[in-house]
Amino acid sequence: MYYDPAETLSREDISRLQLSRLRTTCERAARSRLYARKFAEHGLRPEDVRTLDDLRRIPFTTKQDLRESYPDGLNAVPQEKMVRLHVSSGTTGTPTVVYHTAGDICWWSSLVARCMHMTGMRPGDVFQNTTSYGLFTGGLGMHYGAERLGCLAIPMGAGNTQRQLKLIQDFKVTALHIIPSYALYIANFCALNGIDPKSLGVRIALVGAEPYSEQTRSRLEGIFGFKAFNSYGLSEMNGPGVAFECQEQSGMHLWEDAYLAEVIDPQTLEPVKPGEVGELVLTTLCREGMPILRYRTRDLTRFLPGPCACGREHVRLDRITGRSDDLIIIKGVNIYPMQIEQVLMALPEVGQNYLIELYREGPIDQIRVKVEIKEEFFVEDMRALNALRQKIANKLRDEILVTPKVDLVEHNALPKSEGKAQRVVDMREAE
Ligand code: ADP
Ligand code: ZN
Repeated sequence: MYYDPAETLSREDISRLQLSRLRTTCERAARSRLYARKFAEHGLRPEDVRTLDDLRRIPFTTKQDLRESYPDGLNAVPQEKMVRLHVSSGTTGTPTVVYHTAGDICWWSSLVARCMHMTGMRPGDVFQNTTSYGLFTGGLGMHYGAERLGCLAIPMGAGNTQRQLKLIQDFKVTALHIIPSYALYIANFCALNGIDPKSLGVRIALVGAEPYSEQTRSRLEGIFGFKAFNSYGLSEMNGPGVAFECQEQSGMHLWEDAYLAEVIDPQTLEPVKPGEVGELVLTTLCREGMPILRYRTRDLTRFLPGPCACGREHVRLDRITGRSDDLIIIKGVNIYPMQIEQVLMALPEVGQNYLIELYREGPIDQIRVKVEIKEEFFVEDMRALNALRQKIANKLRDEILVTPKVDLVEHNALPKSEGKAQRVVDMREAE
């Protein structure tokens, strides 16, 4: 039933293991330039970390620290010991680099294999990776995990939907790694080309790398007939394999033998109350090449309370609402793009793509949502279209508390990307 004995650790075992690994991690980290300096500034020595509570004495690490340490200021072992590096995709600015030793790659692969096994993938499954390879960690990260588990792995990479579908059909692919926006795009592509997505026979989809709602998951499962498992990771913490859904599909187990997680209030930097939403902060516990302490992910989530029916005691993360920098403020109201997605994906008339635009009308910030409408609803009757537009605007207002302008658009009218989707365009500065 379990791939790795670590999955069965009790809370007590987890704490004991975390403390010993945290101490080793601090010793290793102190060999890097960044942490040597940070420790000195805080008058902290690695041996001062004696209990898990001492974690709070360790300074945070930010994306800015990583950027300033470019290219190797966090390395804790000589470069000759490193076997790979990844550079983050830079969705939100200057990229950062993460180095791995052979041991790190081995750990990472086994964590990903553990995640895959937990969803029900087994040796004999044929796994197609539809995300880009290269520097994006979802490529090689998932690939190594699938091979480690003993699956046949197809390194298809991103884009070229026709070819993706041909390989899925020809090699009877049973499991996919896919970004949610691309899964929606394939759904569209199948509809336009008369392919029944269920006939593809895919059983399991590992869906992650960008935020998506429960409504999108249901939509994808309904269209493709697979089970979609939420997959969370970030380059700084290797990439995929940090937290993953089990077959209960209710929150993602974060592997606490490999990562130490905190949820903090991003303003006060204090831990939030149990079960409250805040910023996820992660510490690597097994990495030797480039350990990272108390990394502020900027991802917003919460620990789900109570035990999971699967029996694993590793803490569960709620769906990531978005990054703290995704927050849109319009007319004094805080809005996350995820709230808009959630409303749209629950509406049967709405197609598989949308775009949020922020613009200025005189001194006032406005929000416009461009919504793709399914072909069968795109009738010529203006009255019907206006009514639909009004319905969507009302539903959105109920959720986000401001009334957006809604534009209905046809299939393929909105930009699409091969990697993570760009859902928000901010035109306020330009105007
Ligand atoms: P970049 O930060 O340049 O996008 P990464 O590939 O490291 O580079 O992206 C990691 C980020 O992707 C995470 O910090 C998070 O914001 C987002 N992410 C990854 N998986 C998920 C998921 N399952 N749900 C929501 N967001 C996710
Ligand atoms: Zn579980």
